[in-house]
Amino acid sequence: MTAPPHVVVIGAGTLGLCTALNLVEQGARVTVLEAQSIASGSSGRSVGVVGSQFTDPFEIMLRVHSFRRFRQWEGEGLRFNHIGYLRLARTQAQMGLFAKSVEMQAEAGLSSRLIRADQLSELVPHINPDGLEGGLFGPDNGFLDPHEMCNFLAGLVRAKGGEIRQYRKLLGVARQPGGYRLETSGDPIDCDVVVNAGGAWAPRVAELFDQRLHIWPERHEAVVIHLDEPLGYTMPMVMDLVNGEGSGLNFRHEKPTELIAEIHKVNSAAPEDPDNYNDQCEEQSKVDLAELLLERVPDLPGARLGRGWAGLYPVTADHRPLVGPIDASEPTLITAAGAGGYGIQLAPVIGQIAADWVLHGAPVSVPGAASLAPSAERNRPGH
Ligand SMILES: Cc1cc2nc3c(=O)[nH]c(=O)nc-3n(C[C@H](O)[C@H](O)[C@H](O)COP(=O)(O)OP(=O)(O)OC[C@H]3O[C@@H](n4cnc5c(N)ncnc54)[C@H](O)[C@@H]3O)c2cc1C
Repeated sequence: MTAPPHVVVIGAGTLGLCTALNLVEQGARVTVLEAQSIASGSSGRSVGVVGSQFTDPFEIMLRVHSFRRFRQWEGEGLRFNHIGYLRLARTQAQMGLFAKSVEMQAEAGLSSRLIRADQLSELVPHINPDGLEGGLFGPDNGFLDPHEMCNFLAGLVRAKGGEIRQYRKLLGVARQPGGYRLETSGDPIDCDVVVNAGGAWAPRVAELFDQRLHIWPERHEAVVIHLDEPLGYTMPMVMDLVNGEGSGLNFRHEKPTELIAEIHKVNSAAPEDPDNYNDQCEEQSKVDLAELLLERVPDLPGARLGRGWAGLYPVTADHRPLVGPIDASEPTLITAAGAGGYGIQLAPVIGQIAADWVLHGAPVSVPGAASLAPSAERNRPGH
């Protein structure tokens, strides 16, 4: 009998922890190295939305895999707020795509439905339907607390024998027969396989292995909206963006008298330095957000802007994650990074695919997932 491989996962965000969990479940020996604390990167700064209202079959299929895991974890105690997800359509062509999405989701066991423009106010009584043709609604979609998700996953990893070392940064790498010696901010670690789940820092981690990884850290902001009184209904996640068209405004209920709003689409002229970026919300962004909100949901009772913050989307050239080996001749070095604005909802399936690469040399459990490998064609500059 051969000993299980010792896999070191770099990063304790959602991608690293989901990868670690899939690995320990399949018998690997796993150590997660985290430079700071669990969820201290992008994961802890996200707004935690998990949705399947997409129009591309591959994007839907990935989320079908993720949802299976979220349902399982919910049964094991992870809190998931099923507030629903409404994606708005501005054109009949988009409504046509939504109708196909409803069919695709139904085939995969996910429930969703088309909403006509005159039905939008049944879901969101405060909505101004001007310029809208309708929407696509998934009642089971929702959000979770990303810190809670990461700590829940860390608990599962530990319960299955995995180790998570916080405040242990990877500083250097020496290749040795059969694996690597990792220089860290603590003792060196010998291992057989490394998974780079370093999020916005993943290019720097790759450099330690003399690899080039093209991920663009893009700054995004979120703001709390306070209300004078409860709305009397639950505001689902409302998203004004279809395949890049729309304002990018999105908002959802957080607490009875609190919404969280964000603009998913931003102009990002230069990549951010993940160790030194403005993690607070700019005043101008709050003004822009308020204008968009006033246009789409006027008359929210006493709505006023509260605290805001910023975090980083780790963005790739084609806006899909990079999962697999960069260099096919080095299958012991796997990347799981670049999930952009979807690294909470896609983490379960990305972790599954990354673990497949480590243990089986190919993404055997997710059809089509080989296309996510960081090939020369995909791993390129630009975003
Ligand atoms: C404002 C905002 C809202 C968002 N909303 C959503 C949403 O609603 N739904 C959704 O699905 N996604 C959302 N996202 C995107 C999501 O947060 C990211 O895609 C996801 O968190 C990326 O996870 P990750 O594990 O790749 O990276 P991270 O969470 O950043 O984890 C990487 C970790 O690696 C560690 N690390 C780096 N270098 C080293 C090293 N040398 N040694 C050891 N450790 C190292 C870092 O400290 C970090 O903790 C949002 C993001 C932002 C900013």
